Amino acid sequence: MRERAECFHPLLRVIFTDALPDNHQPILSINLQDWHLPAVPSPHNLGGRVTVTGDAAHTMAMYRGEGFNHALLDDYYLTTAIEKIYDPAVPDIAEDIAAVQKSTIATFEDSARRRGAGAVKMCRDASFEVHEYETLSEASTVRQKRIL
Ligand SMILES: Cc1cc2nc3c(=O)[nH]c(=O)nc-3n(C[C@H](O)[C@H](O)[C@H](O)COP(=O)(O)OP(=O)(O)OC[C@H]3O[C@@H](n4cnc5c(N)ncnc54)[C@H](O)[C@@H]3O)c2cc1C
Repeated sequence: MRERAECFHPLLRVIFTDALPDNHQPILSINLQDWHLPAVPSPHNLGGRVTVTGDAAHTMAMYRGEGFNHALLDDYYLTTAIEKIYDPAVPDIAEDIAAVQKSTIATFEDSARRRGAGAVKMCRDASFEVHEYETLSEASTVRQKRIL
């Protein structure tokens, strides 16, 4: 990094020359990977008693500005699902609330997974695109509509 930063403006180069002492600990490489909810129901949801929303459900690179939008949508759909579980007007609920909870949260997770998995992939594609200025075009993923 120090070699690569030799041509930088001194104010920026100093980040690479002064941030770490010469005798620093080994630098670790962090492998980035896509994350979205796995198969439905997610293995750790304890029959619909535990679930996740937002970045915990689908972590997106920021290049399409989508993550917060999905987090809001997740919370809206989850709230709606929870209201349905406790709706006394629904006849099944009095019989077996645990079963209703399990299937309602599984349905929520299924929709969050499908929407999130697509968005995670588009955000990843977009993050590669924006680092290749020459190949950016109107058709690039970074310019396409959100999956919402
Ligand atoms: C640079 C950047 C630009 C972005 N731009 C956009 C954009 O333009 N449009 C858009 O839609 N999205 C954008 N995003 C994505 C958006 O910020 C996230 O998707 C969104 O904040 C996710 O919300 P969240 O509630 O799931 O998670 P977070 O906002 O990360 O909230 C999680 C909270 O949990 C807290 N926490 C963590 N661990 C613990 C613990 N053990 N105990 C207690 N609290 C804990 C954290 O401190 C944090 O406050 C951007 C993200 C980045 C990084």
